[in-house]
Amino acid sequence: MRFYSLSIMFSLVFLIVAIFFSDHLWTVFGILAFTYSSILLWGIFDLRIQLFVKATVHSKNGVLLTFDDGPDAERTPAILDLLRKKKISALFFVIGNQVEKHPEMIKRIVQEGHVVGGHSYSHNLRTTFYSTRSYLKEIDKCNEAIEKVTGITNNVYRPPFGITDPSMGRALKIRKTKTIGWSVRSLDTKLTSKNSLSRLKRRTRKDSIVLLHDNGILDVKDLEGYIDHCIQKEYAIANPVEFIEDLHDA
Ligand SMILES: [Zn+2]
Repeated sequence: MRFYSLSIMFSLVFLIVAIFFSDHLWTVFGILAFTYSSILLWGIFDLRIQLFVKATVHSKNGVLLTFDDGPDAERTPAILDLLRKKKISALFFVIGNQVEKHPEMIKRIVQEGHVVGGHSYSHNLRTTFYSTRSYLKEIDKCNEAIEKVTGITNNVYRPPFGITDPSMGRALKIRKTKTIGWSVRSLDTKLTSKNSLSRLKRRTRKDSIVLLHDNGILDVKDLEGYIDHCIQKEYAIANPVEFIEDLHDA
């Protein structure tokens, strides 16, 4: 884990400073402590730098569409209708308690050739900065909910809010679970639909993993516009089944 290498590196630098530059010990210690804490904070909130968790943030198979926080009673069926119309598949990172509320939607997602991954059981801010044991519970309960409905044993995960820490790193390692991040955020829970669409168009590349939400505000018409944009740019849309197979072969 990069976190441990980083900590060892900072300790060594401090040791060298303590031995050779003892006159300025506290100044250097202050600078080192500030830099170290800043990197830790960055790592906690930005999964892309993979400080605590090894994560896949690009796709070798084309643009991978991912939808978090579902299934959603209103929007998930509309998204599924559109994906069917466009003959493309996506990866849905579902929340365990939502799976229990809408099992028929999970069945439909799988039947229509999409893939389901775990996104915790409760997706609560309180469930961040947990102990390893509590993270394991969140991962397991979500996987149990998925397995109960689909019969599929899930082993891919996206941490809620993209927040990671050493305990989560340990939990995912224990469960031998592959973590999937993203390279493009739609910000479809914050921006207007039009702004989210133009952000997506601007930032998408042929190997992007795109973070969208089942319960986001990106209008289904704008989502269609985005898919058309990818087609026009001749970006392949990744098949999530192949994407996951490649992930486990790597
Ligand atoms: Zn989420």
